Amino acid sequence: MNRIFLFAAGLLVSLLSGCQSRQPVDLVVYNATIYTVDSAFSKATAFAVQDGKFVAVGTADEVQAKFQAKQEVDAHGQFIYPGFYDAHCHFYRYALGLRDADLVGTTSWAQVVQKLQQQRQQFPQAAWLTGRGWDQNDWPGKQFPTKDTLDALFPNTPVFIVRVDGHAALVNQKALDLAGVTTRTPISGGTITKDAAGRLTGLLVDNAVDLVSVKIPEPTATEAATLLLEGQQRCVAVGLTSLADAGLDKANIDQMATLQQQGKLKLRLYTMLNPTKANKEYYLKNGPVFQDRLTVCSFKVYADGALGSRGACLLHPYTDKPRETGFLLSSIADYRTLAKELAASKFQMNTHAIGDSSNRLLLDIYGEVLTGKNDRRWRIEHAQVVSKADMVKFGQFSIVPSVQPTHATSDMYWAGERLGAERLKTAYAYRALREQYGQVAIGSDFPVEDINPLFGFHSAVARQDAKNYPASGFQMENALSRPDALRGMTTWAAHAAFQDKQKGSIRPGMAADFVVLDTDLLEAPKEKLRGAQVQQTWIAGEQVYKGK
Ligand SMILES: [Zn+2]
Repeated sequence: MNRIFLFAAGLLVSLLSGCQSRQPVDLVVYNATIYTVDSAFSKATAFAVQDGKFVAVGTADEVQAKFQAKQEVDAHGQFIYPGFYDAHCHFYRYALGLRDADLVGTTSWAQVVQKLQQQRQQFPQAAWLTGRGWDQNDWPGKQFPTKDTLDALFPNTPVFIVRVDGHAALVNQKALDLAGVTTRTPISGGTITKDAAGRLTGLLVDNAVDLVSVKIPEPTATEAATLLLEGQQRCVAVGLTSLADAGLDKANIDQMATLQQQGKLKLRLYTMLNPTKANKEYYLKNGPVFQDRLTVCSFKVYADGALGSRGACLLHPYTDKPRETGFLLSSIADYRTLAKELAASKFQMNTHAIGDSSNRLLLDIYGEVLTGKNDRRWRIEHAQVVSKADMVKFGQFSIVPSVQPTHATSDMYWAGERLGAERLKTAYAYRALREQYGQVAIGSDFPVEDINPLFGFHSAVARQDAKNYPASGFQMENALSRPDALRGMTTWAAHAAFQDKQKGSIRPGMAADFVVLDTDLLEAPKEKLRGAQVQQTWIAGEQVYKGK
């Protein structure tokens, strides 16, 4: 039988059956290069969606012959991927932080004022106008600002904007009044700045900052909802459809679940619980939550701090501070007790471990309670510095490495000072980790890093920063292949959250979450990856973002 015969036979069948028999579906997308990220990493050019799920994936001829769609989308030859999944971020914190105007990188006081006006327009109901990140050293004249303009523009709204280092803040008269700060307020360990005439300038330094900051109220439920939805808007604009939010309490989760039930928050969430007494009491008793858009089946534990501040717990002293090794944040006994408690439950244990000492400790404790290969999908978050001897434990005890490639390219400038050249080779070792477990889950840790998952994709494959430095890549032996980096932010991220049977790839039965880009992530030159534009983002067959 040849192709022509098959084609003719197919035509005959469709003529006989007629258009009426085509199966009705909600959506058909065609004329695309679709990276399905299925097990064979196969490509397609069209798919059909019904009730929020993919029902067929193939060529346009196959899909259009079989389905009658309510909505047809011509992708105009663009590139489609499963919706991007950030496997480790702090969405709640990020979204609530949006009430602060972002003043990082402002180049003049006038620009700060302009940004504050924009912020006020966006959140007119907020009780306070707050911002962070200004640095007068970046402005012409390098003078500290004064409150005059803020008093004129915002006479009835308290304004509080903190300097980039957190040690100084500028506030307006309304804020000073609310805090009861006058020229006569006593202060030690700080300064309430006055001008030559003895009037308050609004600049507060060190302890004086707290006199006003303590008066800023927590956002109300309505404010929080507005901020969470604004956060969602920014996420879908960069192609994110699923997030793992690391470290939440029941109240935060309930708040987001309510927005989901109202149909407003469409992002799919996997929330890691803080291991507080209240969270454990409630969730260990009631068991994990597996809903369409909400998964609660893990606890987020902190083993140590960060490398930059020398809080990461190392086996040997810091190269640049030979008397320091960092420290654990709890006792070894506490980690072991918690591991046993969680092993007896249906929950995952996801532990933040940066240093090689904390990684070793947690891998060993995981090993003790899990004993060998298993499908509990316990995770090490970051797995940043892992001694060569410990690497195999990820395979041995089936422990998921949850990594953030932009950390490698943000830290590479100074990580060698902390660790020394030899130890640096065991850091940010994503390929070695991937070889052990067979997968890595990829996240960004936003708002610590940028929310754009393509920055992480670029960092993972090119091991370069936004300026393509270093030219030959940082420790390229630990770069990920492009297919693996894409798996890490789709299907492997879903696996790490027990959601791989529901989403993460474009194949029948999976949630119809997908993103349309103008760039072929598998073929484009690496310097084009960060700039790839998201054209459309869809969750459960519903368009949630459309670019220009
Ligand atoms: Zn984090």
